[in-house]
Amino acid sequence: MVVGAGMVGAACALYAARAGLEVILVDRGPVAGGTTGAGEGNLLVSDKEPGPELQLALLSARLWRELAGEGLAGAIEYEAKGGLVVASTPDALASLTDLAAGQRAAGVDTVSVDAHRLRDLEPHLAPGLAGGVLYPQDAQVMPALAAAHLVRASGARLEGGRTVTRILRGRDGAVRGVRTDRGDLLAPAVVNAAGTWGGDVAALAGVGLPVLPRRGFVLVTEPLPPRVRHKVYAADYVADVASDSAALQTSPVVEGTAAGPVLIGASRERVGFDRSLSLPALRALAAGATRLFPFLEHVRAMRTYLGFRPYLPDHLPAVGPDPRVPGLFHACGHEGAGIGLAPGTGLLIAQSLAGRSPELDLAPLRPDRFDDPEHPDRRAEEAAPWTR
Ligand SMILES: Cc1cc2nc3c(=O)[nH]c(=O)nc-3n(C[C@H](O)[C@H](O)[C@H](O)COP(=O)(O)OP(=O)(O)OC[C@H]3O[C@@H](n4cnc5c(N)ncnc54)[C@H](O)[C@@H]3O)c2cc1C
Repeated sequence: MVVGAGMVGAACALYAARAGLEVILVDRGPVAGGTTGAGEGNLLVSDKEPGPELQLALLSARLWRELAGEGLAGAIEYEAKGGLVVASTPDALASLTDLAAGQRAAGVDTVSVDAHRLRDLEPHLAPGLAGGVLYPQDAQVMPALAAAHLVRASGARLEGGRTVTRILRGRDGAVRGVRTDRGDLLAPAVVNAAGTWGGDVAALAGVGLPVLPRRGFVLVTEPLPPRVRHKVYAADYVADVASDSAALQTSPVVEGTAAGPVLIGASRERVGFDRSLSLPALRALAAGATRLFPFLEHVRAMRTYLGFRPYLPDHLPAVGPDPRVPGLFHACGHEGAGIGLAPGTGLLIAQSLAGRSPELDLAPLRPDRFDDPEHPDRRAEEAAPWTR
């Protein structure tokens, strides 16, 4: 039983079915009705520092390519367009070059791009940049389509419009299924793929998982002829992603889409589930994007939308079995990378469900890590309790 039919739940359903399991996918709304339908579809290795998240991103990049190669590429708008990270100063370029060296050692393809060659790759980039790094493995999909097609390909029994209100457990404490507002659904294993609401679903089983919302806005321009060829962003984006601050961060990623509009995303701030429009966030996104691509100054923004990333305090998702509740698995907390990291997560969950050893070490992603009094983010919580 997979709770949550977003991108991550869809990937768990697909790989569990491919491992020979019978899968029920339950969601209180439609497929992709959560954060998956409210974000963007960048599949990035470029913004990950060496470590477990990068390993998961590399595994996922390989699986996305395989899924595209199975005939899904057109349906999910998969584009292997590559990412271009640019630095505006020599200092920023030095840090970017250091990061790229570490990523290369971890298996990422990187190509240094001199300042005078940047405009060969992106003719409309601002002049005067110090240089950049090209990441050929970065790609993109259309998230809602990708989730829907993975659900369909899984053949899972989809139970939409059913809210899970309890995780059922037997006398031995092991999972027996879930209670929903429309009756019980029984299963020997439950995967919590409830994204930003993953902490609430964990609580239904009586365990803690501190998933918090990290709000993001995306600006959408009017449709344009193709002018932005890669995913383009400034080097300081990586620091913003890794930041623990609750305050607004807005180094934009600029990308063209098949339909013509340019997407400028996305801001990051921890303000709970506040859906009100933030002009400061939108202004900062627009200013950052026009610094990279001056032609955008003369382009109209058509609309904006927002979503809530599932944030865990150490910026790593919770993936794997929960040692506190036999039969409970977690696949949530992927913050701003859940589309990119979904297939790898799905495969690792399927391997765990099938009793095989997972392809990557799940220790850094273990769901009970915040119970550990020595965990650095546990200590941070004691110093400054998280607020919802
Ligand atoms: C502005 C913005 C831009 C982003 N850009 C990118 C990007 O470029 N690349 C990238 O990789 N990621 C990006 N992300 C992050 C990405 O969207 C998320 O990490 C991802 O969508 C999480 O997917 P999920 O399946 O875990 O969660 P969700 O899509 O939120 O799915 C969880 C599901 O669980 C269901 N659910 C919750 N509680 C219950 C319950 N009790 N009973 C039944 N169902 C329940 C919900 O209805 C929901 O459908 C972005 C996010 C935002 C907000």
